[in-house]
Amino acid sequence: MKQTYVVHYSEVALKGRNRPEFVRALRRNLVRALNGLGPVVELREGRFLVTAEGAEEAVSERLGRTFGVAWYSSVTAVEPEYAGILAAVLDAAKKASGKTFKVEPRRSDKGFGLSSHDLAVKLGAAVESETGLKVDLSAPDVSIRVDVTKTKALVYSNKTRGPGGLPVGTAGRVLHLFSGGIDSPVAAWLLMKRGCVPVYLHFYLAPTPSSAVESKVTRLVRVLSDYCGKSTMVLAPFAEYQIAAAGAPMELEPSLFRRFMRMTAEALAPRFGAVALSTGDSLSQAASQTLWNLAVFDRGSGLPILRPLLSYDKEEVIALARRISTYEPSLEEYKDCCAIVTRHPRTRVKGGLIDEYVTRLRFQDLVLKTVENATLYTYNPVGGVAKVSRLPNVPLEGGPRSGPRQIYEQGGGGEAHD
Ligand code: ATP
Ligand code: MG
Repeated sequence: MKQTYVVHYSEVALKGRNRPEFVRALRRNLVRALNGLGPVVELREGRFLVTAEGAEEAVSERLGRTFGVAWYSSVTAVEPEYAGILAAVLDAAKKASGKTFKVEPRRSDKGFGLSSHDLAVKLGAAVESETGLKVDLSAPDVSIRVDVTKTKALVYSNKTRGPGGLPVGTAGRVLHLFSGGIDSPVAAWLLMKRGCVPVYLHFYLAPTPSSAVESKVTRLVRVLSDYCGKSTMVLAPFAEYQIAAAGAPMELEPSLFRRFMRMTAEALAPRFGAVALSTGDSLSQAASQTLWNLAVFDRGSGLPILRPLLSYDKEEVIALARRISTYEPSLEEYKDCCAIVTRHPRTRVKGGLIDEYVTRLRFQDLVLKTVENATLYTYNPVGGVAKVSRLPNVPLEGGPRSGPRQIYEQGGGGEAHD
């Protein structure tokens, strides 16, 4: 059965001249999120009217994962005239549980015959006499809202908060270091919440990428694709690096490995049109994440490095991971990634020392080889299609020459399928 919903957007409304682009991106993302439910998404006087098939819970779950949505509700849409509004309000009141109610009309069409106040009084009296419910303006059991627009009047009573944020695809691409632990998926989600499209980069140790493809890493990408649409991950082997770094002092290894990861990420970023790198670092969570060691990681980077979890405690990260459904897959066993562990990591590694090893161990060559041997994993939640291929040598769509505008048009990883 088809049901109509009203969807209001949040900060999107504040973006001045960019607003039409943000609204277009949100519309595209709503169509994508409701894929398979026959969605029709129409912009009507500053809000979306969405029609979709299927159970309300299923639709609600998907609207609740679409960034840029401030709130939504299933609605009865009627002609903007009193008789139709009254019938819809009575219907909503009869379905309501509780003993008290309030009618809250709002008119975006000021040409409607009655003022909001008069409409509330008239409808309230009718509900009282027809249903036996009592008016309570301060703490009603149910609020019946009536939005009168030029073309429709919308009657609803179950307003639900959306995830807020900005539509994915409106803030550019970020190359995101993705370990498969608890932190990095949450960091990716927070970047999406601000409109970014993460391109994931995962380093693995096995001789072939197949164990990474079959691991929790791809499962996590699939979970996250529910929030951002089509997703891309580069699987980069670090065996060559490990052989080369075998002779370096043990206590420098975490910082060396992390510098190698950063340099590889920087080399890959232009191919995806990524304008920044990002990680799941949280300040002082581990020795490699002290302020001094983060400075060594960033030293000489040509790109900004975003760390959405910098100030989060682990408990806060875990709570968020549970909420967004990445926690369980993050806990799955996966032996293949972070093989470099030292018992006495340094908390203040000297940047100059790492720079020396970067030259001595020929990191530039190692990075080139790693990129050459990398594999591309893509996943499209529309149809659930996963593909594994070699990493193309040319800039990919939305590459260095395409600015944000072009990224919106291409969907920035979250294309419309309408
Ligand atoms: P996570 O931080 O994701 O929970 P973790 O705690 O095992 O995983 P850390 O040692 O805290 O990983 O690493 C800090 C950050 O470094 C990660 O959040 C991630 O951005 C990056 N990172 C670590 N290992 C890898 C890897 N194998 N591939 C890509 N990025 C990685
Ligand atoms: Mg961590």
